[in-house]
Amino acid sequence: MGVKVAKFGGTSLASAEAFRKVKAIVLADSSRCFVVPSAPGKRAAEDQKVTDLLYQCHDRVIQGLDFADLFAQIRKRYQDIVTGLDLDLDINKYLDQIEQQLPNQSQPDYAASRGEYLNGIILAAYLGWEFVDPTEIIRFNSHGFLDLLQTEQLIAARLSPERPAVIPGFFGSMPDGSVKTFPRGGSDITGALIARGVKADLYENWTDVSGFYMADPRIVSEPKLISIITYRELRELAYNGANVLHEAAIYPVSQVGIPINIRNTNDPQAPGTMIVKEVNEPRECGDIIGVAGQKDFVVIQIEKALMNSEMGFVRRLLSILEELHISFAHMPSGIDMVSLVILKTELNGKLEQVLSLIQERLDPDRVEVVEQIALIATVGQGLARRYGIAARLFNALAEAKINVRMIDQNSGGINLIVGVANQDFEKAVRAIYQAFVR
Ligand code: ASP
Repeated sequence: MGVKVAKFGGTSLASAEAFRKVKAIVLADSSRCFVVPSAPGKRAAEDQKVTDLLYQCHDRVIQGLDFADLFAQIRKRYQDIVTGLDLDLDINKYLDQIEQQLPNQSQPDYAASRGEYLNGIILAAYLGWEFVDPTEIIRFNSHGFLDLLQTEQLIAARLSPERPAVIPGFFGSMPDGSVKTFPRGGSDITGALIARGVKADLYENWTDVSGFYMADPRIVSEPKLISIITYRELRELAYNGANVLHEAAIYPVSQVGIPINIRNTNDPQAPGTMIVKEVNEPRECGDIIGVAGQKDFVVIQIEKALMNSEMGFVRRLLSILEELHISFAHMPSGIDMVSLVILKTELNGKLEQVLSLIQERLDPDRVEVVEQIALIATVGQGLARRYGIAARLFNALAEAKINVRMIDQNSGGINLIVGVANQDFEKAVRAIYQAFVR
């Protein structure tokens, strides 16, 4: 029998009805031995996510304000789930304890983590499974970074497929035992860590969509669903703005070759998207696997005669970014020029400072700043090994009368990135998609 870890997202556990669907899915396959729940998400557009409410409670605590009204909303969400499921579980006991503890917290982690904690308590009772507190098995080091080795060992020692368990997502513990959360959306990371620790055959990530689409459905109407994609391709799409799975959730499983299957809780029959190490057979989607992008990049172009023979030029340039804690997205270069492509939010108002340090330390001949650039990545393994791909892409953009401001193709040949003006972004994504997908 194979071992599967099933992580369920917030919308999959937002109400009693959603819990019923989850139970049916879990029990339909006896190899699903470990379940990782998120906190209750939105039931409707106007709803608030429980995690958001918990963060708000903590903010009130820090400001010395009363949070009883917010906590009452949280209490009601859980009470509705428990009564809706007809469960014999005293959820108020846990809620009372949390309400008492909240005012003693200086950091938001404890508050934020309780959404997953309570959902874990309910789901374990509903399935009749063991509840395992992730503070026992997911460890951060004293700097607040995940201690992967220790976590892996603790999970392997604590969990066994003979004893099915529910392990809440999103948090673990610091060396002193205090609660520490992952970044937002981090239950995906917990699922990946559990899958790695128990040496699962498959990591299922259940959400409210049937997998990854080849393009953002808000831009391209009815894009094709990707049935199989490699970890690297997915990483490129995620880095370039396509978001379904938390990006830090890929490496714990990709390093050890455990496939990830994105599935839809509302359509459990759909096979979803499979994320694997390698795909050898041709795929029905053709030459590319997806198009993704983001707006609002700033490009700083630096020119200097004989730049290529000036030792340490790029090092000095990058040390400016390091000093100012700015990370760049791309760095295309030419013989006497180099460009830094940086997300505007990452620059965070420090553009003037960057420019004056460039003048001071690098003595360039010319510096030009181009703002409001959107980057679009066209991704597919072996893109660079096939002829005609770039021609098709640039023809499509030319026919759509879109001016390409920047081109970058990484040497791994897995993506081709073009920069266009922000206002051409959606049009360009559609043109590229249509050029490759029929
Ligand atoms: N509940 C947390 C959040 O809203 C973690 C997660 O859902 O993965 O970010």
